[in-house]
Amino acid sequence: MGSETRNCQNCKQNFIIEPEDFDFYKKIDVPPPTFCPECRLQRRLVWRNERALYRRKCDAPGHSEKLISYIAPEKPQSVYDQRYWWSDDWDPSSYGKEYDFSKPFFVQFKELLDVVPRSSLSTNYSTIINSEYSNWGGDLKNCYLVTDADYVEDSGYSSTIFKSKDCYECNAVSESELCYESFNLLKCYRTVGSINCQGCSDVWFSKNCNGCANCFGCVNLRNKSYCIFNEQYSKEEYFKKISEFHGERKGAYELLKKRAQEFWASLPERHSRGYGNVNVSGDYIYHSKNTKYGFLASDVEDSKYVSLIHSLNTKDCFDYTDWGENARLLYECIACGLGASNLKFCNLVVLQSKDSAYSYFSYNCSDIFGCVNMRKKQYCILNKQYAKEEYENLLPKIKKHMDEMPYMDKKGRVYKYGEFFPQDISPFTYNESVAQEFFPLTREEAEQKGYSWREPDEKSYVATKKVTEIPEIIDGIDDSITKEVIECEHEGKCNQSCATAFRIIPAEIQFYRKMKLPLPHLCPNCRHYERLKHRNPLRLWKRFCTCKGKESVNGIYKNTTSHSHGDNQCPNEFETSFSPERPEIVYCERCYNSEII
Ligand SMILES: [Zn+2]
Ligand SMILES: [Zn+2]
Ligand SMILES: [Zn+2]
Ligand SMILES: [Zn+2]
Repeated sequence: MGSETRNCQNCKQNFIIEPEDFDFYKKIDVPPPTFCPECRLQRRLVWRNERALYRRKCDAPGHSEKLISYIAPEKPQSVYDQRYWWSDDWDPSSYGKEYDFSKPFFVQFKELLDVVPRSSLSTNYSTIINSEYSNWGGDLKNCYLVTDADYVEDSGYSSTIFKSKDCYECNAVSESELCYESFNLLKCYRTVGSINCQGCSDVWFSKNCNGCANCFGCVNLRNKSYCIFNEQYSKEEYFKKISEFHGERKGAYELLKKRAQEFWASLPERHSRGYGNVNVSGDYIYHSKNTKYGFLASDVEDSKYVSLIHSLNTKDCFDYTDWGENARLLYECIACGLGASNLKFCNLVVLQSKDSAYSYFSYNCSDIFGCVNMRKKQYCILNKQYAKEEYENLLPKIKKHMDEMPYMDKKGRVYKYGEFFPQDISPFTYNESVAQEFFPLTREEAEQKGYSWREPDEKSYVATKKVTEIPEIIDGIDDSITKEVIECEHEGKCNQSCATAFRIIPAEIQFYRKMKLPLPHLCPNCRHYERLKHRNPLRLWKRFCTCKGKESVNGIYKNTTSHSHGDNQCPNEFETSFSPERPEIVYCERCYNSEII
């Protein structure tokens, strides 16, 4: 079968289904998608809430303690403390229902989703020590507001962080220590305000650097020391000069950050970030093979449209977001992993689960369909247990029924068998979910597209301090600052889920003292969204290399070496997550490597 152009039900743009896509759909026996890849990703992400946390009470029998949950208090679902939820003291199959051929499948699934009790958070709770406000994580110790995190200690306000210690304000950071306000670091130490760096130490405000130590405001350097804005200094000169910068003062810190970012923009970017790959496309992709449209992914093979895959050994998966770890043959799944195989349209179906579809937060299951919170079961539909033959007889009838009586949302999008869960039955609103982080919308835009929205709760506290009243440097700020409620500089006027005010926690102030860093002026949500501006969209555009021979097409960057294409425009075309209208100088692999110092 050749490639086919289809029109996306959601964004109404055309998208292409390639022969290899058809092969995969045939292999796992699903119809081709009706949403484009980007809209499919967005639809899955609406089902993941990492950072919107609430206080509510535990609804487990005999319990009434307050707990922290990612289910908003007004939601219909009962919420159980995690320990109780994972125990055998309650039975999800007691909520089982007969399939009803008089109403659409997704209506019935939503009814089930509303009545089966939910876990307050999604963590490996027994491995979490003194890290109350953490979600989507395990093996955490003394952490505060870290999400999508494993093996992290003494850290705060960070997401997608692994095997790291003493890190604050970081995203996509692994095996790092004492890092601050950074994105996409691997094996870094004392790295501040930096992006896409590996194996660096004592590096500030640097980008795309590898193996550097004691560098400031640098970009694209390899194994360098004592460089400032890419200029080489002696050790003595270096320390003298950076001591004059006064990065420990808030005003100077922000100016230096701005100056560095302006400098970064004057040098070429490689069209995609990653290494150790064979035959891949995407961005931030590592040690992967035969994988297309892979983003923030490592150790992936023979897969396509995958993102946020950060664990070992993921193979043969299409439209799969978050996790991995020996995942096989997953299609349109999110947060399924740990030996999961042959799953379709599943969310959080884990721990050796297999051969299942349309199920939610279930583990150790096989052959389940439309189930919610099931564990260690086989042959269940809508949480009702069947004999093997009954299950096998019923399943084709249900799939047929899904096609004959599809679900339609209020924007007219039609959901037959083969679509992921509709976004409007998600337990989360658009702005609670990570969809808002990858595809930010205003409330009006979201509602126009049929997404739900939740305004942040009215804050019961009153700010006791304005940021202008905070001293510029950490020296001399005593622990009493942790009692203050500080007004966020954005005052709720941004579109970043601004909490309008924030506190400094005691561990955080110790971190700032240790690192000689000034206090932040923004609330944690605004800080998070500001950092995410450094992450390119999870989408590829075809464009040409912007190397013109002697300089970049915009004339800003002068090449330092002669390139294989001589003085002519580089003919290389590539797919990149830098959209064509962006100002960055984007070079092909060859031109970029020619310029790397
Ligand atoms: Zn679309
Ligand atoms: Zn804010
Ligand atoms: Zn080129
Ligand atoms: Zn070139």
